Amino acid sequence: MAPPDCASQAEYIGYFADALTVLQTEAALERAARELGEDSAAENIDYLEVRWAPLLHLTAGLRPAAVIEAVLRGLAAAPLRAVAIVCAMRHHPVAENVELARLAGRYAGRGVVGFDLAGDEAQYPAAPQRPAFAAARAAGLHLTCHAGEAGEPASVEEALRLGVERIAHGVIGAREPAIVERIRSEGVVLDLCPTANWKCKAVPRLADHPLPGLVRAGVRCTISTDSRTVAATTLTAEYELAARVLGMSEAELRSCNQVAHDARFDA
Ligand SMILES: [Zn+2]
Repeated sequence: MAPPDCASQAEYIGYFADALTVLQTEAALERAARELGEDSAAENIDYLEVRWAPLLHLTAGLRPAAVIEAVLRGLAAAPLRAVAIVCAMRHHPVAENVELARLAGRYAGRGVVGFDLAGDEAQYPAAPQRPAFAAARAAGLHLTCHAGEAGEPASVEEALRLGVERIAHGVIGAREPAIVERIRSEGVVLDLCPTANWKCKAVPRLADHPLPGLVRAGVRCTISTDSRTVAATTLTAEYELAARVLGMSEAELRSCNQVAHDARFDA
């Protein structure tokens, strides 16, 4: 679990290392995916999109296809509808990410619904990965991209230029009214994770999170957890803090849940 006083997104990402160490076999991946579904169902979640990066699970010799299939088996065994979004990593070479996008596309309609880019935003721009997004689109996958959790507001515009339907976080883009207006007018959805965003220092304090302002400005927003383990949270806890710390009304929270339903990639 990442502590509240993480200095940066890069430091926050470092806390995934321990979990990755024990997620290098098909059995471990299948079990973790199934148990994520069980824990989510226990919160009354009935539809789950799981983002993860298959290429981070190859250190014990698994092939990427085996990683994807193990996770899909676990999700299929979970007591709720659960689908997968395959994440490429920003620090991986574009050729590897193109190959990953093509592989993920082979599971379109069989559990994989989307393609994403994640990782250290401060050091690795998204634009060079455009061919990977093109390959994913050609394979019939929905597109989303992590942006705006570190770096400058322009990184959110960089993600928009990739043609994504949704942005994972986009928090720092909220500092620029022109970027907020573009997100709103294009109907792009922001998947916001208040605790994780704060731990990455996209906002200095939880109370500074832009979620309520974005919702009131008409931006389509969903509330998510990011990694439940590393962020040390649950979806219930995120909704509770949105009400208690961010001062959102029940109607505003219901609207976020409705956006999540309407913008789901499994539609
Ligand atoms: Zn994330």
